[in-house]
Amino acid sequence: MLDRLPWVDTTRCDVAERCADCKAARFCPNGAFGVVEAEGGCRVSIDLERCKRCGECAHACELGAVRMI
Ligand code: SF4
Ligand code: SF4
Repeated sequence: MLDRLPWVDTTRCDVAERCADCKAARFCPNGAFGVVEAEGGCRVSIDLERCKRCGECAHACELGAVRMI
C-alpha cells in the first residue's frame, strides 16, 4: 500500500452538493484529505506533502470514490 497514492473518482463522489461530511477526510489520520470550496461546488483535495499513503481514506469512503492506485 505504501507505494500507492489516493485517487478520487469524481463521478462517484457526491461532495460537490454537500460540501461537508466527507468520511474520507474525517478518517485521514494526517490531515491530508480535505474538502475545499471551488467554483461550481465543493471538491475533495489531497495534500500529497502530508499524505502518508496509509489508505484509510479509501477504506472510509462509502461510495467507493477513493482508490489507492
Ligand atoms: S466520503 Fe468519498 S464520496 Fe463522500 S465526500 Fe468523501 S470522497 Fe466523496
Ligand atoms: S492515504 Fe492516508 S494520509 Fe493519505 S489522504 Fe488517505 S488517509 Fe490521508
